[in-house]
Amino acid sequence: MTPAAAAGADDVITLLEACTEAGRLKRAAKLAASVSFLLGEGELIIAAVANYNVVIDITARRIQHGCRDFQGQAPSRRLCKHVAATVLGLQEALGRRIAAELAEGAAAPATGVVVPWSFEVITRFTPGG
Ligand SMILES: [Zn+2]
Repeated sequence: MTPAAAAGADDVITLLEACTEAGRLKRAAKLAASVSFLLGEGELIIAAVANYNVVIDITARRIQHGCRDFQGQAPSRRLCKHVAATVLGLQEALGRRIAAELAEGAAAPATGVVVPWSFEVITRFTPGG
């Protein structure tokens, strides 16, 4: 196993391992294919995952989502499966960029070097409803 050969498709997964635990990540990987993106590139990501919305504002470093697990995880900036699935569902370069920042924040939340992401709990919205 050379480091060069290991870098690649599971980079994003590897980074996300710092932000959630194995069981959630496994469920997220299964969900990733069914994430639908209203906005899936650029600085603002808006997605629907299994009846929940996930909003990732890269410029503001803010994640907005509303499942029960997220509510519990948000104070410690850990990811639920929906948010992890959204990151996994993105184009790889973009997903890696977000995952890398989240992983850095998870590793060093108190250093002041890494601007921490904020996690905001939102309720589900229904477009046009
Ligand atoms: Zn969730």
